[in-house]
Amino acid sequence: MSARPNAAAATTTADSADACCAEPLPVLGRDVTVPLVTGGEVTYAALDYAASAPALQRVWDDVAAYAPYYGSVHRGAGYLSQLSTDLFEQSRVTVAEFLDCREGDQVVFTRSTTDSLNLLAQVVPADCQVFVFETEHHASLLPWRDTQVTYLNAPRTPAQAVETLERALADRDPHGPALVCVTGASNVTGELWPVRELAAAAHAHGARIVLDAAQLAPHHPVSVRELDVDWVAFSGHKLYAPFGSGVLAGRADWLQAAEPYLAGGGASRTVARRADGGVDVEWHTTAARHEAGSPNVIGVYSIASACKALTEAGFDSLVARERHLIDTVRAGLAEVPEVRVLSLFGDDAPRVGVISFVVDGWNSSHFAAALSAEYGIGVRDGLFCAHPLVRTLLGSDPQDPGECGAPEPAAPGERSLNAIRVSFGAG
Ligand code: PLP
Repeated sequence: MSARPNAAAATTTADSADACCAEPLPVLGRDVTVPLVTGGEVTYAALDYAASAPALQRVWDDVAAYAPYYGSVHRGAGYLSQLSTDLFEQSRVTVAEFLDCREGDQVVFTRSTTDSLNLLAQVVPADCQVFVFETEHHASLLPWRDTQVTYLNAPRTPAQAVETLERALADRDPHGPALVCVTGASNVTGELWPVRELAAAAHAHGARIVLDAAQLAPHHPVSVRELDVDWVAFSGHKLYAPFGSGVLAGRADWLQAAEPYLAGGGASRTVARRADGGVDVEWHTTAARHEAGSPNVIGVYSIASACKALTEAGFDSLVARERHLIDTVRAGLAEVPEVRVLSLFGDDAPRVGVISFVVDGWNSSHFAAALSAEYGIGVRDGLFCAHPLVRTLLGSDPQDPGECGAPEPAAPGERSLNAIRVSFGAG
């Protein structure tokens, strides 16, 4: 590979970031070594936090300390079951505090952001009109396909995003319920979306708003109250907790009015046979309504542990350090004439540590594979589960169904069909 990443610059970056700002939070996997095709081994540089961040050491320690005691939640009088139930319910309180929820908001534990948004899509009123930008991650884009959904064109500035939404909402039938679904930080460009302004626009037109905070929550404090969003969704595995758990938090009314997302034990308060041979059920009206089945208590406990660790570390210093890393990575990329960084809102847009780019003359998938095989650097390549957005940014046809991971042109000047993404954060 000719466009070798500048290891010396990367070391300087990390050193000066450490010198100017907070220490990175200790995470698992810092010392993992991987084999190189050229022979030998190298310490792995994981730069795909946007897909899954490594677990914080603190989270791992908390889980290890609890693991011998875990038991089934809400299922028994035994000590371990009681202890697990307490930790599970305390975790709900911790997450509500982390998100600065309002009185009366519910915190529902799910499997992931995808699961949370699918849950919400199941509980919106039948006549709900939904508004989503085409730029969303598929987890925010696709769950609404069975609702009356309007897909909004990609804006090129945050102000245009607000205007586009205002216009669409002004045209809607003002009587029925409506919901806007928007990401807080893009998993492609890292750019922050004007969530507060979009929430104000939604509410001014009688609509509600759900924030996809999968990429925002690991990088910035998320206050339901200050942003004035109705719901927020995020995933544990992007927030330095292990896999398997997520959160949907927010207004209780639509959640309580709807049928449970899953039918089963835990969601039901009482179940009885009817005289006609059928079965009657009374569902819980708490968050448990949508948590049927034995909950993932380890996953939930690890989310709460991650929330505490980030809060205690303090987002101010974490943000300052990340800002420094972002500036350094972007400055380094700007020095390579063949590199084009992808951006919807422009260079000056506030962003998190997620940077996507293409290298002229390089097949992005080959480039990413070479970074791993030759240098032990793990990045992501492809369309990042945001196909319409990446195609728009690459200048290819957003309506082309294409094929993820398909071979692409690699001659200088030819247009790349995939992109490369590096992402990093507090750990
Ligand atoms: N939303 C955004 C912005 C994401 O980046 C992702 C994952 O990359 C998701 C939602 C889906 O998260 P999960 O795969 O944890 O459900």
